[in-house]
Amino acid sequence: MPITGIYGPDDFANRPQGKPVPIRVAPARTGPPLPMPSLEWTPEVERATAPLYDRVKHVIPPIEWPLMAPTIKAINELKRARGAVILAHNYQSPEIFHCVADIGGDSLQLAVEATKVKADIIVQCGVHFMAETSKLLNPDKTVLIPDTRAGCSLAASITGADVRLLREKFPGVPVVAYVNTSAEVKAEVDICCTSSNAVQVVESLNAPTVIFLPDRYLATYVASKTDVKIVAWKGACEVHERFTGAELRAYREADPSVQIIAHPECPPDVLGEADFTGSTAHMINWVRAKRPRRLVMITECSMADNVRAELPDVEILRPCNICPHMKRITLANILESLLTLREEVTIDPALAPRARRSVERMINLKN
Ligand code: SF4
Repeated sequence: MPITGIYGPDDFANRPQGKPVPIRVAPARTGPPLPMPSLEWTPEVERATAPLYDRVKHVIPPIEWPLMAPTIKAINELKRARGAVILAHNYQSPEIFHCVADIGGDSLQLAVEATKVKADIIVQCGVHFMAETSKLLNPDKTVLIPDTRAGCSLAASITGADVRLLREKFPGVPVVAYVNTSAEVKAEVDICCTSSNAVQVVESLNAPTVIFLPDRYLATYVASKTDVKIVAWKGACEVHERFTGAELRAYREADPSVQIIAHPECPPDVLGEADFTGSTAHMINWVRAKRPRRLVMITECSMADNVRAELPDVEILRPCNICPHMKRITLANILESLLTLREEVTIDPALAPRARRSVERMINLKN
């Protein structure tokens, strides 16, 4: 059914002025950082990184590999020396996702894997809310984000005070927050969800109405899959809201055999043109199972590169959009992060237990 109401900052006259709480980082540690390793392209580097190049040879031209390989080798050596593990989201570039990450996946997979990590140091190749989620689930570990400017338009669209205003307006109505929210917002809600499990989480609450925030399009998609009444927030992903149905129809007209798959953060007219809608993990599984000859993948550009690296026989057309926040993470700043152990993510202790409970309630839901 259609969403029953949608609210935003302008709908509350008594809304306090304020911005989302920025990511918190610990003061720099004292003591000298490790020395910078050699980043020269040598025959030894070429030999040592040849198996890694094999993984990305369909998406990274040979001429670019000598520029990346020395840093990749240095990161992998330093990671072992530091006892660190690298988590990378599906939207990270192929040289990060396939060549330095230990664990890759969507937000749900990374959240679950973060709970199993044995290493003392986690380097989060993704955006703020992902690093905060890892820290919430691993309070005793060091969680590093290589660039503190890696934010998210969805997480920036809502504050903890906004959630409290929604609760005042809808007393007793449970609140679900997409994981793409700050720890401050997670602390105010009943449970988190990802795009993989949003419908399941909403229905698990056994309530006639649920407040679902902050993505208006994911809320619309969830509402179309359940009888639960959904109250939404006016947030949007700046990457997915730019796609249009007209753009997809043009691809379909050019080749009627093309398969189109889309992320549920896209507007409804885009999803209306798609053959399949799902989270990044569901999209990858769909491509592995169906092996379409020609595919349009409506999401962030690096996801298409990462799938193509694995499945080169699938031709992926490119109406993709780049997430500028995900692209803040580079090989150079991952190396820097491992050398200096910066920036270390911390969570306000006044928020952490409540925010952790919202994430853990999601993880502990039975499938
Ligand atoms: S792709 Fe969209 S939802 Fe994901 S981090 Fe970028 S802005 Fe946020």
